[in-house]
Amino acid sequence: MHRRDFVKTAAGAMAGAMRGLHEPATGVAATPAAAAARTPATGTVPTPATGTALVSDARYLDHVLIRPNGSRPPEVPERLVRIRAELEARGLIEATVPLSPAADPLDRIRAHHTGEHVDSVRQLGVTARVAELAVSGALTAVDAVVDGTVRNAFCAIRPPGHHANNTGAEEGFCYYSNAAIAARYAQQVHGYEKVLIIDWDYHHGNATQNAFYDDPTVLFFSAHDWNAYPGTGDPSLTGDGDGTGLNINVHLDCGATDADMLRHWDNVLSPAVAAFDPDFVVVSAGFDSRRDDLLGCFALTDDAFRRMTRIAMDYADSCCDGRLVSLLEGGYNLDGTALAAAAHVETLLETRNP
Ligand SMILES: [Zn+2]
Repeated sequence: MHRRDFVKTAAGAMAGAMRGLHEPATGVAATPAAAAARTPATGTVPTPATGTALVSDARYLDHVLIRPNGSRPPEVPERLVRIRAELEARGLIEATVPLSPAADPLDRIRAHHTGEHVDSVRQLGVTARVAELAVSGALTAVDAVVDGTVRNAFCAIRPPGHHANNTGAEEGFCYYSNAAIAARYAQQVHGYEKVLIIDWDYHHGNATQNAFYDDPTVLFFSAHDWNAYPGTGDPSLTGDGDGTGLNINVHLDCGATDADMLRHWDNVLSPAVAAFDPDFVVVSAGFDSRRDDLLGCFALTDDAFRRMTRIAMDYADSCCDGRLVSLLEGGYNLDGTALAAAAHVETLLETRNP
């Protein structure tokens, strides 16, 4: 048994007490259902789960973003249609465990965002409902990974979330900070202490950074083009207070290749993850870092997404019994996004030595 596994097993025997200690001071009281989920009915630590969930729902197509000036940005419902078609063509729909968003998202959204922001977004009709459904999908995936239904999950959700601060309006096609809310959910409801969030979207995950900038319980890694929207992601910003060193921003220039990206994983991310020793892994899976994207200028191939997925899974295997939840962020070349997402899901299914 891996030392880490042994530690986790020992900790699991005292799950209630240990996880009680892990509740952050600002934590929200766990629901009865969550409390039940923490303690397996058998009283034993379950063996690591297998399988990959695919969170999807036709209602994610109902949100159509039209700007006040009438323009229609490329964050379109067709993105999910094309991803699903590519997964179908490769036999990946039937290979995955289908999940529909079932978790109640509003309490978790309100625990993360300001009341003013939520009240404002909720004025947006169907868009507001779909944005809540995106959070619900992320939470449902966390639940499924925590309860052992699957080892990992990909959430084909929209709208994306990693630019959603508290402005009361859409930012960068985002309304609610899906990844940050999912991370907090894993901590505050399911009792996992430390969460690693990997963001490989072309754009900086500014809202995720902002949510955890001084937080020692979240390691955030974002590789992005600092010159692009939203203009944040300065590599010199490494966190604050107890979170110093746990915010990692990597800038990549236009034309960045697979090797350019992966070099930072080897040299920066992997040592940071080893030192941090997370309990849960969340991926902000944006595919606008793939070559030929409408909004990005990197040159990543589908193989980069396979390799990044594999490395993220290796992290999860080594520290977290494979617990990994991946959330769709950007990706605006419809063909390219579908191909990269399919490569991602194919890799998630390749569980090693469960
Ligand atoms: Zn993006």
